[in-house]
Amino acid sequence: MATPETRFPQHPSDATAATPASDWSVEKAAQHYNVPGWGAGYFSVSDKGHLVVHPHGQPGPTIDIMDVVEDIRERNLGFPCVVRFQDVLRARVKAINEAFGKGLVEQGYGGKYFGVYPVKVNQMREVVEEILDAGAPYHYGLEAGSKGELLIVLGHNTDPEALTVCNGYKDEEFLRLALLGRKLGRKVIVVIEKLSELPHLLRLGDEMGVEPLIGLRSKLTTRGTGKWEGSSGDFAKFGLTVPELIHAVRILKEQKKEHCARLLHFHVGSQLTDIRVVKDAINEGARVYAKLRKMGLPIEYFDVGGGLGVDYVGSHGGNGNGNNAAPGVTIASTVNYTLEEYVGDVVYNLQRVCQNEQVPEPHIVSESGRAVTAHHSCVVMNVFGHIEIGSQEQITAASVADPNESKVVREMREIVTGLTPRNKAEAYHDAVAKKEEALQMFKLGLLGLEERAMVESLFWKLCRDLVALNRGKKRLPRDTRDLGDKIADQYMANFSLFQSAPDHWAFDQLFPIVPLHRMDEPPTRDCTIVDITCDSDGKIDRFIEGEGVDETLSLHALEPGQPYYLGLMLTGAYQDVMGDMHNLFGRVNEIHVFVDDEDPEDFYIEEVIPGDRIEQVLSRMQYGPGDLARRVKNALDQKVKDGAIRPKEGVQLADFFEQVMRGYTYLAGV
Ligand SMILES: *Cc1c(COP(=O)(O)O)cnc(C)c1O
Repeated sequence: MATPETRFPQHPSDATAATPASDWSVEKAAQHYNVPGWGAGYFSVSDKGHLVVHPHGQPGPTIDIMDVVEDIRERNLGFPCVVRFQDVLRARVKAINEAFGKGLVEQGYGGKYFGVYPVKVNQMREVVEEILDAGAPYHYGLEAGSKGELLIVLGHNTDPEALTVCNGYKDEEFLRLALLGRKLGRKVIVVIEKLSELPHLLRLGDEMGVEPLIGLRSKLTTRGTGKWEGSSGDFAKFGLTVPELIHAVRILKEQKKEHCARLLHFHVGSQLTDIRVVKDAINEGARVYAKLRKMGLPIEYFDVGGGLGVDYVGSHGGNGNGNNAAPGVTIASTVNYTLEEYVGDVVYNLQRVCQNEQVPEPHIVSESGRAVTAHHSCVVMNVFGHIEIGSQEQITAASVADPNESKVVREMREIVTGLTPRNKAEAYHDAVAKKEEALQMFKLGLLGLEERAMVESLFWKLCRDLVALNRGKKRLPRDTRDLGDKIADQYMANFSLFQSAPDHWAFDQLFPIVPLHRMDEPPTRDCTIVDITCDSDGKIDRFIEGEGVDETLSLHALEPGQPYYLGLMLTGAYQDVMGDMHNLFGRVNEIHVFVDDEDPEDFYIEEVIPGDRIEQVLSRMQYGPGDLARRVKNALDQKVKDGAIRPKEGVQLADFFEQVMRGYTYLAGV
């Protein structure tokens, strides 16, 4: 873990500056962090160099995220803090519904669109309520994948026109809950994921005296790519194979319940990056629909599942500048199509098959979650220090030659001062060997600690000089190509990757990271970011820069005593509800921001939800906070009795222990 002396050293001179200050502008900054690319119109860089939000798109009200940061500070809430822009959430709901509405009209399609939001993507009540409210004009519904989620949905989705789609494996209680929804007059559709659920559902329907609405999930052979490819294909966990679908039709007919079959469902995976997969899936699914229709099932809803992707990189499916980051990583975090294109392809391909097969055009259902929620939230974190390899002070100190210094130090110095653009590789190899020689001498007791430090500092100086020489060059020698990444600063940010961006840790998914301020100054440090968990995996070393991906991110030098804030963007889908308890950091503070035209800053904070207090995370692990306090108090009392601690101090220490227990889990006052 980081040591305290790494805090805020100054950078008097800066060898790593990428762009001369005079060429820098806020427009350059926007390009550099690719804000227009991933921002989807909701984010931009202001003249002041701050990241701003346009919740209704541009033009429209603008929220300066630094004003929100100021508010968080005034409330003493503490960082990290999740900031939700509820208006962005509403805008997404509207965008998806209107894109489908428009697509249907444009293609003269015979059915309507009934979207459902899958609550697993972000189950927060405020998120679900906002989505339902914004979606009310479109009869936007909800999807549940478990009993817990169905309880939420039955409580909130009260529109009799809107769908409730139940996916996932179901036990008797789950099925009974769905039928309870039917009794309330809701359009609750139970999607059969495995064949045995069907007779079970029909039996319970008879018993409860209510007709179920049935969906059939088809296991398509079309597959998504990347992390979610297992969601489809012959060996997928969910869905019915073609023989099973035929068996299902037989069961329905035998029980004279064909009329209950209302929906065909498939889901080929989340974050579909290639539009061709969407087209293939629609074509395959549409044929299945047509055949089932012809077998006598009155299916009226065609549910294309989720998968509408989000362009986290902002490179429109490209792997950007193709530099050293693995292209596959980039590709999985970007998509090669727009919302309009997605809608157009769904509608067009479905309609074509229906016309070809001469079956009615069904209503279209989609279960987009990621595309609805990703943009609306971000995590604001403060950088509280950095770890620098070969700091400027150390290098400066080592640069002064001492006539009495040992031979190995002198020789290292000669290598460093002799560096030219022509001998880069040679100098680097010599320096590596010299450093090794110094280490051997140290182990044999022939070199002092201070001299070893000199050799290392000189080595880091050489690395920095090499990086400066390499900068902007296209073809670089293999050995020194990655030096820049190796000697990058590690900026220590007050957050837990496992809590706030688990998908980055789990499978390298990329999220934009941007300074929230100072973008009017050129960034001068090449950095990686480390979190505050004690886990060496708690770091970010893949970043979006320009339209590509890099192992380092250019950030601003830390100013002593001045906070530096970063935004981890587009975290609204899956991240903040999947976070774990690594190191017992737990849930993050959270605020919900709404646009308010009347307000001088264009916003107000509607809600503040404190993150986990330490006592809460301890209780979850079966520790009684009272018990812990008692144990420590008893130990203190004993010391007081022994005369080792004064009674007053004993009381103060016990109070302090309890006060920490009631506090925020993340770093305070850094
Ligand atoms: C996860 C899931 C979704 C949501 O997918 P997104 O890619 O987030 O839109 C939709 N339907 C089903 C069945 C799912 O499992």
